[in-house]
Amino acid sequence: MPLVDVRSVHKHFGQNHVLKGVDLQVQSGQVVAIIGRSGSGKSTLLRSVNGLERIDQGEIVVDNAVLKGAEATPAQLRALRMNVGMVFQQFNLFPHLTAGQNVALSPVVVKGVSKSDAAALAHQMLDKVGLGAKYDAYPDQLSGGQQQRVAIARALAMQPKVLLCDEITSALDPELVNEVLAVVKQLAAEGMTLIMVTHEMRFARDVGDQLVFMHHGRIHEQGPARDVFAAPQTAELAGFIGAVH
Ligand code: ADP
Ligand code: MG
Repeated sequence: MPLVDVRSVHKHFGQNHVLKGVDLQVQSGQVVAIIGRSGSGKSTLLRSVNGLERIDQGEIVVDNAVLKGAEATPAQLRALRMNVGMVFQQFNLFPHLTAGQNVALSPVVVKGVSKSDAAALAHQMLDKVGLGAKYDAYPDQLSGGQQQRVAIARALAMQPKVLLCDEITSALDPELVNEVLAVVKQLAAEGMTLIMVTHEMRFARDVGDQLVFMHHGRIHEQGPARDVFAAPQTAELAGFIGAVH
């Protein structure tokens, strides 16, 4: 049984058919890297897996939570979101809260964890991303790389079964990219199930178990990351890899 099972998912924005029947299975502990041109539907796919977009057709299963097309109820969406963490290109930290408070917030508000337990959890999660000393720092006192690591800690504090990362290094200055990728690599090594949209091709090849190439709303090519990079089977992927190198 895959942990994440995306079955024949379709999504339109008005007349724009953005996901045209996407199937994707992710096993527990797997790292899936999604690549593809801007506008190919990568973010919409991730946002659908997190229940941020309502799909028109198909089914998304994450562990025991099932979403069936347009029929998803608020309770089903909540159940899905409990299983799924997400980190975005923009860190979206609350500027008036410290790093620790940002991380502790959702466990208190969404899960009803006590404030003291949430604070302990936040310390633990900030330690995990190498920011144990920054508990009391405000976002504007942190570098972009540090803010993104706080955002990762915040997602982890909800103890998701799968973590979705949507171009989480794209807004960073080049010298800050590696510290964030190192955290993701460590999570992968610890067995976290990850689905990441990335432009970091070397990272996708080295850390990804599975590579997914999206093109015009479909998975155009897919396979073990190293094999797919070494020998792309479609002209579109070969062109894309060539274009971004
Ligand atoms: P990618 O992440 O691969 O760049 P997206 O999933 O963001 O692609 O977008 C796929 C298509 O869906 C694009 O044509 C985009 O303009 C459109 N789209 C994305 N989000 C919305 C939205 N909220 N409303 C309308 N169109 C959208
Ligand atoms: Mg995107």
